[in-house]
Amino acid sequence: MLPQDQNWYSEVGEETGHAFSLRLTGAGKLHEEQTEFQKIEVFDTETFGKLMTIDGLVMLTTRDNFLYHEMMSHPVLFTHPKPKRVLIIGGGDCGTLREVLRHPGVELAQQVDIDEGVTRASLQYFPELCESNDDPRAGLYFQDGLKWIKEAEAGYYDVIIVDSTDPIGPAEGLFGEAFFRDCVRALADDGILVQQSESPLLHIELLQDIHRYMRKAGFNATQTLHFPQPVYPSGWWSCTMASKQAFNGFRQADAAARPFKTLYYSPEVHQGALALPPYVQEALQV
Ligand code: SAM
Repeated sequence: MLPQDQNWYSEVGEETGHAFSLRLTGAGKLHEEQTEFQKIEVFDTETFGKLMTIDGLVMLTTRDNFLYHEMMSHPVLFTHPKPKRVLIIGGGDCGTLREVLRHPGVELAQQVDIDEGVTRASLQYFPELCESNDDPRAGLYFQDGLKWIKEAEAGYYDVIIVDSTDPIGPAEGLFGEAFFRDCVRALADDGILVQQSESPLLHIELLQDIHRYMRKAGFNATQTLHFPQPVYPSGWWSCTMASKQAFNGFRQADAAARPFKTLYYSPEVHQGALALPPYVQEALQV
């Protein structure tokens, strides 16, 4: 049992039989809002800075969100030959948007999150993630991504990043074949989709489904990358890219010469993230 005399936040995984906890400061909970879509809370922790949760599940902390936001953005952008128009579905904390806009070649970055409450909370408690929100290339929209993608112009986007919550509630449809089919239509011929694809340890069946649905939807190539993310279940996370054309490595020289600082991403890390453990490789021969 957790030390009862101290103040802790815990995410308990009922299905996976695991829990993750962070000790809180005396300030404890700083924010709570029940929006039309979900419950947003922010806590002050002793060692991870601020913590945002949605419906009781960890979204991000000050200390380690860089791992996720860098790996959800830079691998796909350096895999695409010349990304100009980027759509982010979800990502309401604006951390992915900030990373995308570090790429000087990006001309348009649209962020479509269903819940404006998440962005409001991030502006207040994670202002460092919102520092690019006023970039003239950025557009923030508050809509269901499932609806947005259906109405998108065919072939309009070079990259679509799905930075969503878990496949429950409003995000459930973002993991299905119908959504991926709409992404195939909205992407240019050399366009690439990347989606946060949960834990290779705890959610391998979901990872298999994601690959299966992406290919049934019309993507001819799918590729999973894995990376550490301490505050997510198991601490080991992934994202999965999909393209209508075969993947042909990534722009290593451009990644090495990137004109911005990263804390986790590098061409070597990118290459390593593509090296999947044998059991994952085998499972993904779907
Ligand atoms: N890194 C987090 C994770 O892996 O769980 C995701 C962070 S981000 C805060 C997740 C966002 O997805 C939330 O802001 C939520 O509002 C948004 N979201 C969920 N379903 C959505 C939908 N159908 N359309 C657009 N945004 C959605």
